[in-house]
Amino acid sequence: MSEFRPADSFRSPRFAQLATFMRLPHTRDVAGLDVALLGIPFDGGSSYRPGSRFAPREIRQHSSLIRPYNPALQVNPFEVLRVADVGDVDVNPIGIEDTFTRVEYAVGALHDAKVIPLCVGGDHSLSLPLLRAVVRRHGPVGMVHVDSHQDMWEEYFGNKYFHGTPFRRAVEEGLLDTKRVLQIGIRGPVYAEADFDFARRHGIRWVTAPQLARDGLKWAIDQLRVVHGGPVYLSFDIDGVDPAFAPGTGTPEVGGLTSREALELVRALVDVPLVGADVVEVSPPYDHAGITSMLAANIVFEIVSVIAATRQRRHKDSVTAAGNP
Ligand code: MN
Ligand code: MN
Repeated sequence: MSEFRPADSFRSPRFAQLATFMRLPHTRDVAGLDVALLGIPFDGGSSYRPGSRFAPREIRQHSSLIRPYNPALQVNPFEVLRVADVGDVDVNPIGIEDTFTRVEYAVGALHDAKVIPLCVGGDHSLSLPLLRAVVRRHGPVGMVHVDSHQDMWEEYFGNKYFHGTPFRRAVEEGLLDTKRVLQIGIRGPVYAEADFDFARRHGIRWVTAPQLARDGLKWAIDQLRVVHGGPVYLSFDIDGVDPAFAPGTGTPEVGGLTSREALELVRALVDVPLVGADVVEVSPPYDHAGITSMLAANIVFEIVSVIAATRQRRHKDSVTAAGNP
């Protein structure tokens, strides 16, 4: 398994060599991997500030300081899982539907190889092809969706596909087990109260940022119980976090999660059977001192750690069960 370890920083300084996610090896040969880190540099679905096409490169860069052991979850994910940076999808920078086809194909190949894809966008429109790919393998999934927006609008300038519609399309296409969806961090002005009707009609639950501030993170984490009962997808829009911690994003909304809360929220997913995840909407041109990319890199690390901790715990349980007939 050693060939899938991050580069040894006592032999190769953190700022040396080509930047990969967490200094992991880069490979296109996905056979035998447990988790693949995949960049999707596409921002053609952005409605306001563009720039998330530059996020995969920037997040790789800012992930080089991440050390391999996670004390919060008591796991070194790279001792449990074979993880590699599998590069980027070659998107079509001026074609959203062609990009969706390319993304679904690339990520579908990972699912076919039984590799969990952890994708770094790119804008949030990408979650639609990512869900299409996951559902072909696992059927409709539950979802934890961190965001300041529900991303369930009907359309924009006559377009069905952009970063404000992926989850409405996902519901329409039957990709989500809507009873097992939880959105966290929702806030900010919308056009009208009716903007929430679609989610209500489909029985989708959400935790607003003001609710979270009032009732606390522990309460919010308790609400995660609704996603249990089957495979779960995690979609993490960095604008769920307050722009004080994540200014480098396309459509910032004030009054959001702290970076500490964001990390704790991800850590609370231990024992949730994640079948795929994305971290989207980081826009490096609007970032300052790399703080948004640094946070995104650490969220990626926490997701890998959660998958590892879940697997480790399952393994221990089965060993214990075998030992105590
Ligand atoms: Mn979003
Ligand atoms: Mn958003």
